[in-house]
Amino acid sequence: MDAHSRQTKKIDLDRFPRVALCHQPTPIESLPRLSEYLGGPNVFVKRDDCTGLATGGNKTRKLEFLVGEALQQNADTLVTQGAVQSNHVRQTAAAACRVGLACYALLERRVEGAGPSYERTGNVFIDRLFGATLEFRPGGLDMNAEAMAAAERLRDEGRRPYFIPGGGSNEVGALGYVSCAQEIIDQVAAMDTGFDWIVMATGSTGTQAGLVAGLHALGASLPVMGVSVRQPREKQIKAVHDLAARTLATIDGGSLPTSSVIVDDGYVGPGYGVPAESTLEALDLAAKLEGLLLDPVYSGKGFAGLIGLARANFFKPTDNVLFLHTGGSAALFAYETTLLPQTAAAEEATA
Ligand SMILES: *Cc1c(COP(=O)(O)O)cnc(C)c1O
Repeated sequence: MDAHSRQTKKIDLDRFPRVALCHQPTPIESLPRLSEYLGGPNVFVKRDDCTGLATGGNKTRKLEFLVGEALQQNADTLVTQGAVQSNHVRQTAAAACRVGLACYALLERRVEGAGPSYERTGNVFIDRLFGATLEFRPGGLDMNAEAMAAAERLRDEGRRPYFIPGGGSNEVGALGYVSCAQEIIDQVAAMDTGFDWIVMATGSTGTQAGLVAGLHALGASLPVMGVSVRQPREKQIKAVHDLAARTLATIDGGSLPTSSVIVDDGYVGPGYGVPAESTLEALDLAAKLEGLLLDPVYSGKGFAGLIGLARANFFKPTDNVLFLHTGGSAALFAYETTLLPQTAAAEEATA
């Protein structure tokens, strides 16, 4: 345990509007069979896949603050956007139901060549169960601009929209992961082991930015490795750092050196929403060694990063590494034919 990680400092988040949506603290569990298989480090998992709202995931922490602000502004509709299999849209649609708001979501067809279940099952299916209004868009548009335009149209019709950017990643949503940083430091203080690294998937940046900002504000010297799910390293570092700096300004936490933002882009594979070989292996190992579900878009790539870095001896064998499990298993069903092609083919043959 690193002495610097034992903190008594607290971040005051009480001045921000917030609604309770999340099971917290989420548990930290050890993964002994996977750790043994890798020959070290000791791998632990922070179960943010178990945040409780509509199968859970990292967007729920962000939505506590975003929906808090929406209610403060007397909004009647949450407007947001994401990929077709967006976990963020699913959690936003659920949060809207929890507080009695409508949800209007634009879904971008960002993934090419996805099977027939991709637009029907998984997260889209759940969005529909929550009664969200969905509009599809082709890939490659500026989706935040599209969603803001949709919000303006709703305003013209007399509605009171509240715009949430893709992934809930702005300085309001990132407060959810400032809060998670505090939670991890409190859990570390109560455990007899500390952590040498946090490893996680990074996409629209709010999760890593909030976590890094929170750890910095707490004075904790616990490095965070973001495993990119889409962008090259330099671009992702800049985007995470920009938002982390704005988040720190929001909580009066001082300035942040760029060196606090660490990203590995070696596990993106063919691109956003398309699993690499290493993603499939990570899903398989987590499932068969630990009974742990990952997803093919985010947590599978993040976990592939952890496995790859362990094999490259990036960690010391005695290090304690905490994988932040950001959720995503609701998307598994939409990827059935990619994940289990033999089963799918066999069923087709006997049908
Ligand atoms: C959105 C998401 C992420 C990435 O978090 P960002 O804040 O967008 O970087 C990781 N894992 C899952 C399952 C997600 O849905």
